[in-house]
Parts: sequence; C-alpha cells; structure tokens
Amino acid sequence: MNLERLKVSVRGVVQGVGFRPFVYRLASELGLRGWVLNSGQGVLIEVEGDRQSLQNFLVRLELEKPPLASVHSLETSFLDSIGYDKFEIRHRNQDGPTTVLVMPDIATCADCLREILDPGNRRYRYPFTNCTNCGPRFTIIESLPYDRPNTSMARFAMCPDCWQEYNDPVDRRFHAQPIACPKCGPRLELWDSEGRLIAQRDDALHQTAEALQNGKIVALKGLGGFHLIVDAQNEIAVRDLRLRKRREEKPLALMYPSLEAVRNDCKVSELEARLLLSPECPIVLLQRRSRSDQLAQSIAPSNGCFGVMLPYTPLHHLLMRKICSPIIATSGNVRDEPICVDELEALQRLKGIADFYLVHDRPIVRHVDDSIVRIISGRESVLRRARGYAPLPVRVREPLPLVLALGAHLKNNVALSIGNEVFVSQHIGDLETSQAFTAFQKVALDLQHLYGTSAALIACDLHPDYLSTKYACQLTEKPVYVQHHWAHVSACIAENELDPPVLGVAWDGTGYGTDGTIWGGEFLLSEGEGFERVAHIRKFRLPGGSAAIKEPRRAALGVLYEAWGHERVQNRATTPGFEFSEADLAILLQMLARGINSPMTSSVGRLFDAVASLIGLRQGVTFEGQAAMELEYVVDQSIEESYLFQLEDGPPLIVNWEPLLKGILADVDRCESVAAISAKFHNALAEAIVGVARRVGVSQVALTGGCFQNRHLTERAIRRLRECGFKPYWHQRIPPNDGGIALGQVVAATERNLDLKQRAFAEVA
Ligand code: ZN
Ligand code: ZN
Ligand code: FE
Repeated sequence: MNLERLKVSVRGVVQGVGFRPFVYRLASELGLRGWVLNSGQGVLIEVEGDRQSLQNFLVRLELEKPPLASVHSLETSFLDSIGYDKFEIRHRNQDGPTTVLVMPDIATCADCLREILDPGNRRYRYPFTNCTNCGPRFTIIESLPYDRPNTSMARFAMCPDCWQEYNDPVDRRFHAQPIACPKCGPRLELWDSEGRLIAQRDDALHQTAEALQNGKIVALKGLGGFHLIVDAQNEIAVRDLRLRKRREEKPLALMYPSLEAVRNDCKVSELEARLLLSPECPIVLLQRRSRSDQLAQSIAPSNGCFGVMLPYTPLHHLLMRKICSPIIATSGNVRDEPICVDELEALQRLKGIADFYLVHDRPIVRHVDDSIVRIISGRESVLRRARGYAPLPVRVREPLPLVLALGAHLKNNVALSIGNEVFVSQHIGDLETSQAFTAFQKVALDLQHLYGTSAALIACDLHPDYLSTKYACQLTEKPVYVQHHWAHVSACIAENELDPPVLGVAWDGTGYGTDGTIWGGEFLLSEGEGFERVAHIRKFRLPGGSAAIKEPRRAALGVLYEAWGHERVQNRATTPGFEFSEADLAILLQMLARGINSPMTSSVGRLFDAVASLIGLRQGVTFEGQAAMELEYVVDQSIEESYLFQLEDGPPLIVNWEPLLKGILADVDRCESVAAISAKFHNALAEAIVGVARRVGVSQVALTGGCFQNRHLTERAIRRLRECGFKPYWHQRIPPNDGGIALGQVVAATERNLDLKQRAFAEVA
C-alpha cells in the first residue's frame, strides 16, 4: 500500500475548544498515524495513511469539528511518509518567538449568513455583517497589532449595541475588529456611470439586480477590490463586457448562488466541493458539463473548465439570492492592470466599461484578487495565491536570514522570509503597466512594514530587463540574482520538504538563462549547492522575439526552420496550414537566417505553441498560455500512444523534438484528429521526463513551471514517473507558474554556499 503524509495547518478558533481530542479520535477511527500539536501558529497536524483515508480525514475534519471550533484557514500539503507508528497529541516546544500572523480575509460564516437572512435580526439584510469567525482582515489592516484603530474600520464609531457585543466575552463578536451593523457600519450605494447617486442600502441592491437582469455591466466594490459583474446567461452582455474590458478570449470567472447550481453546469468532486465551501472560498477550476449551454458561449471559449466560486461576503450572498442565477465576476480592471480598490479611482479607470457602480464606504487598504485553485492528481493546487491565502506564510524547515524576493515579471508577487516562515504576498499581476509597477512597489514596502522589518538581502530574477530586477538594483547595489527556472525548482523543493538530490523539471514560457538565451524546457539537478543544467529541450529560434509569443505560427516556423533549414521551409511544399503572406514569410525567413531579433529558446511553452499552430488549432493568441490551454482541452485521454523524443548525449542532454515533429506532420497529412495528435504530444512530453530521469538516475523528480498548470500533462507525468519507479512532486500551496518565483528566490538566495552560487551566475553579468 502506498503511504502518504498529510500536513495540515488549521487557524481559527481551534484552541481550547476540544479540537485536539477530536483530531485524535478522527485519526484513530481512520487508522491514521502521526500527531497533532497546538502551536503559536494554530493547530498543526500530520497524519499518515493511504490516499483515500487521508482525503476522508480532510473532508471530515471540517464537517465534524467540535461545535465551538471555527476554522478560518486550512492549508494542506501531501508529503512523503516518515513512518509514524502511532497517533499522539504532542506538546508544544517553546522554541523561540513566533511571528504574529496577519490573517487572510475569511468567507462569511454560517452564523452570520443566518443572521442576514433572519427578518427578526438587527443585521437582517446588512451586507457588511461579520464576526470573529469571518469577514475582512488582510484587506482592512493598516498596521499591527490587529486592533480596530489600525484598520480601515477606524472611521466608523461603534453604536451602543455593537460596543456591547464587542466587549462581551461570551458574544460571537467579542473583539471582532470589523464589527458593524446597519446603524453604525459601512453603507451601500449605487451610482450611475458618472458617479451620481441612484440608490442606497437595500434599494441599491434591488436596483443592481435589476440592472444585471437588463444586461448591464456593474462594477461592484467587494472585499479586496472591484469586480465587474454581468449576467452569465446573457451572451450579448458578456460579449459587451469583453469588448469594453479589452479581454478578448481569456476565460471569465463565474459566481454561483449555490453549490447545487454549480453542479448543474460542472462536475464537482468531494474535494472540489470542500474548496468551494471553504473559508478561503477560492475560484475552483471545474470541468464543465456539456449541458451547460444556458450559459453564454463566450465565457470560456475553447476551454474545458469553468472558474467557479461561491459568494464569500454578505453582499455577494444577498445579491446572488436576488438574482438566483450565475453571474460573471471578473476583476475590475482594464486588461491586465491591477484591480481597482477605490470608488473614485474606479470611476476613472472603469469609465466606459461599467454602466453602474455598487460601492460602499469601507476603504480597502490593499488590493487582493480572488485566488484560483485546481485539483491536480487528488491534491489542491493553488494557481493564484491571493484572497483567503495571502499573506499566510509557507513554513520551511530551516530558519532563513531576512530576504525580500521581488519575483518575476508575469504573475508577479513578492516574498519575505522571517525565521522559518516565508510570507508570500498576494498576487500582483503582470508588471506590464505603470499601475502594476506602482502596485508592486507598494506591496514590497507594505509587506516589510506589516512585519516591522527591512530586508538587507534582496533577491530578484536574473533577467536584466524585468522591472522587478531593475527595482532590486534601485534598492541595493548587490541584489542576489536567481536564475528563473532554478527559482521554480527551489520553490517546489521547499514546498515538498525534499532533501537533495532532486531532478527539477522546470517548463514554462520564458525565463532568462545563465547563457543569455531564453530557457523554458529545463532539467536542473540539485545536489545541495546550486544546480546543474543536466538536460534541456533542443533550442530553436523565435522570429520576432516577444512578438512570437502572440503568434504561435512563428514558433512553428522557428521549429521547422531549425529542423529543415532555409530552403525546405521556403518552398513550403510540405508546410501545413499556417498562412503567412509571401512578404511576411520572406521577412521572417530573413530574420531567422541572420538571427536578427530571433532569440534561441528551449521553451516548452513555445513548443506547445508550435504544435497548436502546426495542427491548425491556433495561429494567434490573445493571452499567455492560450494555445497550451486549447491543446489540453482537445486531448483524447484514452489514447496511450506517444510521439518520440530523441535523447542526445550531453552534457547537457538534449531532448530533441525532431522525431516528434515528423510524427505530428505525418499525422496531419493523414488527417488524424487534433484530439489524438494532442494526446500523443502530451504523452511524449511525459515520456521525455521519464527518459531524462532514467538517464540522470535520481529518484525524486520535481515538476514546476507554468506548463504544469496543465492538468493532463502533470497527471500523466506523475503517473508515468510512478510506474517507472520515480517519486514525482508538484506544487500545492504555491503556484507552479511565476507566482512561485518569489518563494523560490528566497530559498535559493539563502542557500548556504552563496559565494559559490554567485560565481555560477557571474558568467551572465
Ligand atoms: Zn461570522
Ligand atoms: Zn452598530
Ligand atoms: Fe516561469
């Protein structure tokens, strides 16, 4: 039997309420071994057993918890088993001071929900109801300690009733800092597109529902920023939103009134249901059902998943109960800018997008987006870490020196290490606009300010042109540069608590390599000090550099050029359907021939692009990763066959895709289905991982980088690695995409033999 270890950190009202004895009983009943411990950071649990028992434990932990216990946050990681022989209640070892935690925002609890639906309650239909078990935290805290005067609730004077509850030790709202009621708390207003007041309080809610039913776009000021919301069953309205927001095809998130309603349109497993209803209340990527055709077609075109969440504030609950059908709830921004947090700012920035503004007067101290989670191989995998998770730390085994890591360029976040904890900021976004860069600087300062520290050591990406790298150079003369894929691998190693040696498989779109070329199909071996690039995908040129990222057919051209050479590509006799004009093709071939603006890359992300183009699926994309997403969508999972990669001797080993290319083109000629071609391509990638792992001969294999957001690829690689006797690891708490880079930078920058590592990076500078 395959044993696994489940590590759980539970925060909330879980101490002194019979939680440990409950955990003991539950673990014993399920035959699990391990321990439970009350720590300064909440209750920590480790249990070992088979996969199914561990999943049962997880689900029952919340369903059957003692009545007085309240869970505010529950983070899980599946790790290798250690071999505990019994279950025990452990006693706290007083090892030094623990950092005060800033709690994330918590979804509305059942008690508060009951109150706002009870006509006899003084908080009936009050959209800002909260208690010690739920409500805003991270989004209202200005500084520590967490007391009302240090929050954005300071401006609201408590009424006598709230004051009494706040000071009553047996009340659920004893010391609930954001306590509020209709008499003394924040108020709701509905504004028109010019910011003129239309309605207040409950009337504002009624009119918002009406506007949505009439196909209008409403900007809603929520917990961590603005959403743009629209009726998800109104195709014209959804298209209108896309047009105005300049978001062409990237999937839009949905909010449903209830879990039952979600089940109509999506398949929901037990673990997924747990996540949807959890205090974190993230967007969960769910497999859509074919019968979900009442929904607008343009919500997630050519995508097998819907991003779905349930209401997480009283405001959302009240609105969804009024509408009774799903809405689009997408970030309140233009394109990929950071979300708006302030109503006056929103009037400017969302001008021309929103028809109405549903706002309130509780200031949002910092922007926090909705988090995104996907179940991969039976485990929760956080793809965007923000509301409900940030700024909780990732605990590492060894205490670290103080480091501020500034992350990458896309999906940026920052991280700060204090002792054994690495505090990972909320998702900031792509540092492509001045707003995003401003938000990034703010978060970097904010994180240090919150924890009262100022980091001496600054870590950043090796890419000289990233704004985050430039900022690092402003902060210090000597930033520690960490190679992008090494940061990915370091994050995965840290999260899974692995000891070397580990073979890191870091596959993504783009990262600056130590040789100055673009990496993205890397096999990095960690033996304890730095890394060795033991293998990589065969390189090819990308005509037009970053322009090629928007045009998969350019990647296809680069691959064909590398394989066939100039003449054969030029006469096009055998090139399939990507249509360049004669003039464009001539220019691109010139660029390739001379190597002008055609950087070499080993990127698997770009290989996905090339394949999507060659099989006629995608010639142009409107967002990062789109071609790969569509290839995943069309995959026929029943196909076991695979194209071939050829492994060429190194060092480093070269994973040559030429046989794969031949296979794909032959299948295209035979009019093989895209479903089959995509499957054979995914399978080939998994075989390439197994092939390299065999040659390197290291049993622990860490899968990381944006490509491993692809569930089919990841699950296939996990399965094949296991079948061949390897131990695969992947991300759980921290995103596999560039949202994991900051954590990786912290860990890599603090490795003991720093000098040695810097020398390894010196060749680049
Ligand atoms: Zn509550
Ligand atoms: Zn009050
Ligand atoms: Fe990356």
